[in-house]
Amino acid sequence: MESYVFPGNIDEQIMKIGSQPFIYMRTDAFSEVNKESERLLLELIHCRGGRTVIYTGSGTGAMSAVVENYVTTKQKAFVIDGGSFGHRWYQMCQYYGIAAVDYRVPFACDIDYDDLESQIARERPDVFLCQHHETSTGQLYDLACISRICHKYGVSMVVDVISTFLADELDMDALGIDICITSTQKGLNIPPGLSILFLSQRLEGYPFQHRGYYWDFEDNLNNFTRGQTSFSPATILFLQLNARLHQLRDEGGEHRNIQAVAHRAEVFRAECRKYGWDVPAQRPSNAITGFQTRDTDERRIFKGLMERYDTYIMPSGRPGFYRVSHMGLQTDEELMRLAERIHTLELEMK
Ligand SMILES: *Cc1c(COP(=O)(O)O)cnc(C)c1O
Repeated sequence: MESYVFPGNIDEQIMKIGSQPFIYMRTDAFSEVNKESERLLLELIHCRGGRTVIYTGSGTGAMSAVVENYVTTKQKAFVIDGGSFGHRWYQMCQYYGIAAVDYRVPFACDIDYDDLESQIARERPDVFLCQHHETSTGQLYDLACISRICHKYGVSMVVDVISTFLADELDMDALGIDICITSTQKGLNIPPGLSILFLSQRLEGYPFQHRGYYWDFEDNLNNFTRGQTSFSPATILFLQLNARLHQLRDEGGEHRNIQAVAHRAEVFRAECRKYGWDVPAQRPSNAITGFQTRDTDERRIFKGLMERYDTYIMPSGRPGFYRVSHMGLQTDEELMRLAERIHTLELEMK
């Protein structure tokens, strides 16, 4: 099988951990693993003196946690809604009854930052919710511009970096972001199941709300201070995460990994140009390539790849628009062969 979805092809050493006996969670050994993971994670995202909680639960769980514990302490949220993930922030605000501005950004377009600034000046929100990369389209937002605007108007910044952590450059401290979230099945390239909350040092002692039992910040933070989880952790995933963090450190840290992801994206995008597929994102993330084929169906090429080549790419709700992830292991040759196969299927469909 070849996988260009999330998490993609995973390193064999990491996969092996999944078939081995694992330690009991209520031990010092497990606590030490987690305390080390927290340290390594904070270094990778540049969050000095900050905190993490590693939850058993998918990325959306961490989004929910942020809204329940933090956004509910605010008067008005401002949401960048440029696709299904941005829209999820807005839906969550509605779900918890938080006043929110739904700022729509057209498919695969960048934000008009001048317009954004005038909207922020007019609406005066106190918390800003966005994605670094709207994974449904491939569009990367300019966090430096957003940060300048948010800081000018005193708006707290919360960023879903689920699909850019370790794929695009990101410095939480330099950008003055209060909260980031990510999950294991994207840039970390290990199986799905854990989500990670990053809290900046500025939020130390912040009076969080208590609106969700499982995700409660205070309770989870207290336990994680000693390397423990409030509830039964997906132990194997915590061990795979720790092993992956060691690999990343030994391979040269986040910049090396980001370069590797960017290289794969470049290789595949050259193939897109060769076959005449448009990459609509105005500022594409390295994490995925979203490209428009001539297919008139939403899933035909997706199905053809799966049935004929045991290969997975991501379909979408738009006819002919597919996404290939660059966060898993993939060689230049594999990417070129993938493009050739997509091209073959595209020709057959005419
Ligand atoms: C993958 C992803 C999520 C979370 O999805 P889960 O399926 O809950 O892990 C959230 N935001 C973005 C930007 C994503 O790419």
